[in-house]
Amino acid sequence: MATTARTKLQNFIDGEFVDSAEGATEDVTNPANGEVIAEMPLSNEEDVNRAVSAAKRAFDGWAATPPGERAAALFGLADLIEEHADELADLEAADAGKPRNAFFEDEIPFMCDNLRFFGGAARVPEGQAAGEYVANRTSIIRREPVGVVGQITPWNYPLMMAIWKIGPALAAGCTIVLKPAETTPISTVKLAELAGQVLPKGVLNVITGHGRPAGASLVTHPDVDMVSLTGSPETGKWIASAASDSLKRVHLELGGKAPVIVFDDVDLENALETIAATGLYNAGQDCTAATRVLASSKVYDDVVSGLAEQAKGYKMGDTFDPETTLGPLNSMRQRERVEKFLNGKPAHAEIVTGGKEPDLPGSFLEPTVVANLQQDDEMIQNEIFGPVLTVQQFDDEANAVEWANGTRYGLASSVWTRDIGRAHRVANALRFGCVWINDHITIAAEMPHGGYKQSGYGKDMSKYAIEDYQEIKHVMVNLEV
Ligand code: NAD
Repeated sequence: MATTARTKLQNFIDGEFVDSAEGATEDVTNPANGEVIAEMPLSNEEDVNRAVSAAKRAFDGWAATPPGERAAALFGLADLIEEHADELADLEAADAGKPRNAFFEDEIPFMCDNLRFFGGAARVPEGQAAGEYVANRTSIIRREPVGVVGQITPWNYPLMMAIWKIGPALAAGCTIVLKPAETTPISTVKLAELAGQVLPKGVLNVITGHGRPAGASLVTHPDVDMVSLTGSPETGKWIASAASDSLKRVHLELGGKAPVIVFDDVDLENALETIAATGLYNAGQDCTAATRVLASSKVYDDVVSGLAEQAKGYKMGDTFDPETTLGPLNSMRQRERVEKFLNGKPAHAEIVTGGKEPDLPGSFLEPTVVANLQQDDEMIQNEIFGPVLTVQQFDDEANAVEWANGTRYGLASSVWTRDIGRAHRVANALRFGCVWINDHITIAAEMPHGGYKQSGYGKDMSKYAIEDYQEIKHVMVNLEV
């Protein structure tokens, strides 16, 4: 079932669905066919004020709720997502242009697992033992929620990024105002409806709209204690600078340019299948996507031809068709952005396969492999965020590591070799928040996801994410009084 009926979305504030203060709306389209599927409120500063007030009123109660009860709410939300999995898959396939099957099989179970992980983790806070570190004084460490958090999500994984953000914040005892990306608000509004069944009113508020004014008003609101963004480095830098005025906490996941270092001793066929699959997953709109392949000169030609072969095996089309393995770019704007990279290809580079718009409605782009790229090329230095795999040729290990580390990003990376010493040496030398050895993209709720360098700071998933939403307080008791 596609969402052919036009859905009227509303903001979710203080447990109620409401129109935006001004009543202004904007159409939301299906990127696979251009159909208008919903209209969303265009929120402004007044909507942000109302949502933040609700979150502020709810804060004391939620912060004081015992961890076991917060856990029960997170478990309840996971159960509701499972119950509504079909509907959520329909919404996300239509709004974000995801192949429905992949979303249903990969993302739904992972989101539920994340919520359950955070529910459990809420009950086992860790830290230094209370004790007498000074004679006759007992020191106690308390972990307390940061307060009201503004969370801003991107369009590539609308529902999953919302879950990655709300899970640790709710576990920590924070209350939330969440703003989804303007092209993909639908599943987040549905999430608000489900969350409203298990959370006290005001604990999770959702407002829709653009980066400006909605997102920016949330960032600068004096009662927002922390801002968490997944998005572009440019937005992250603006948020960090806007937050400097009040010194509110900032948590940033700003994309990546994952290097994939392929040595000449691997089982190439298996490696290339995984590399292509994880480079083209979600049409390459993934900040950890395996898109920047660095191949040893001994296997370079085979890597180029093998990836091209893999890329040709993907099927584009209706995101509701189970046969579809590659969806469209999230918007015409995003396709234009990706095509700009391809049109600006330097003369020494070669598009081995793909690079064209297929004869389909919507914002599709053929899976593409570009070879012969050099380290300084735009396509190597900047995030393309589309179904484009690039290949470079390296001479030795030192050269591979230097190029792998040689961009402004530092989110994810992988190294492919059977030589265990080399695998660990390279993993240690890579300046990235994650290194996979003979794998790419596999994630676990218990393990952190976050960047080095201009990929940002702060972790999603894992106990480290909960810590990002907590203040650490030292209480010292004088035992002599
Ligand atoms: P963006 O950073 O503009 O948008 C991401 C989110 O930030 C959206 O919700 C948007 O409304 C909001 N936003 C934008 N400006 C804001 C502001 N001033 N204050 C507060 N919120 C603001 O990203 P984009 O334009 O949608 O995509 C641009 C590029 O960013 C992509 O091509 C890709 O390279 C990268 N990107 C990365 C990720 C990721 O997962 N890390 C996700 C999406 C996009």
